[in-house]
Parts: sequence; C-alpha cells; structure tokens
Amino acid sequence: MTARLPASAKKPVLSPRGRLWLRVLIDEPGQCWRWMGRVNSSGYGMLQSVHLPKRAHRAMWTVVHGPIPEGKLVCHTCDNRVCVNPRHLFLGTLQDNHRDAQKKLRHSWGERTNTAKITREDVWRIRAIMDTGLRDTDPRSSRPHWKDTLLLEADRLGLSKVHIFAIARRRFWKNLPERPS
Ligand SMILES: [Zn+2]
Repeated sequence: MTARLPASAKKPVLSPRGRLWLRVLIDEPGQCWRWMGRVNSSGYGMLQSVHLPKRAHRAMWTVVHGPIPEGKLVCHTCDNRVCVNPRHLFLGTLQDNHRDAQKKLRHSWGERTNTAKITREDVWRIRAIMDTGLRDTDPRSSRPHWKDTLLLEADRLGLSKVHIFAIARRRFWKNLPERPS
C-alpha cells in the first residue's frame, strides 16, 4: 500500500510521530512491540527528536497520552525495556518503579534457567507429587505412578523430563524453602 505523493513533494518529511512509528515492530496488541531503532546502554530504545522525549517508550507515551506529568516515570508492566506497546506502559513514581522492581526480583528468584515461566507454586506442586508418590507404599493403590504424574506435569509446563525430576529432587530451585504449611 503506497501513498501517492504530490509531484511537489520530492522528499517526504516524516513528522516526529511518523519517525516514531517507523521504528516499531508492531506485534499482536497484547504482545511486546519491539523498538527497532537505537538502544542505549541501559537497554532502552532511543530516538532523535526535538519534539518528543529521547527514550522511545516515553516518546510513545507522549504520542498516545500527551505530555508526561512532571515527576512521573513511564514504567513497563512487561519488564521489557525495548518494548513500546502503549498497553504495557503505565505512569508511576520513582518509588512505584522501585517497589515494582523489588517485587519482580522476588518473583524471578531461582528462575535462572529457561523455565522462567514456572512459579514457586509449580515447584511446590512438583515436589509434592514426588514426595506423595514415594510415601505411597500401598501396592493396591490405584493412584497413577508418581513418575507418570510428573511427566504429565512436565508436559503441561513445557519442561523436559530431566528438568522436572531435577526440580522434584531439589536439584533445581534448591534455595526455595519447602511450602509453608
Ligand atoms: Zn511489552
């Protein structure tokens, strides 16, 4: 879809907004929209504009909502600094941002591998499956073998067999205390 330019417009000049949108990789509305321009050493998208804030996510906020109130920060709900999806941006204070970072840090605790999607609750459930299975010595028990239950759980969470057993045996997430009773 190309717009026909009038003959006089030899060199189309993009507005600040136009330049901003030009560098955004727009995905599904709920997904992160990646900034395709320059990224600074802190991982934030940057743009060159005298009309808009220099940081791309702040520029996006301005384009969508208007000027950023003094003393406010534009924060990411997705924690992805190169994301400029307006739905992932919210106004916060420095304290909010700090609290938020602390909370995210606590939540990501122990999640160093590619299993960043599993939570402490998942880990506790995985451990419980093995513990209950090992305790169950009744040969007539109709309970599916705990190893099969673990494999089903691995499938559901997208973990490998090796990985889920390592979690059950406390090799992974070993610093996570037992589920508080
Ligand atoms: Zn995002």
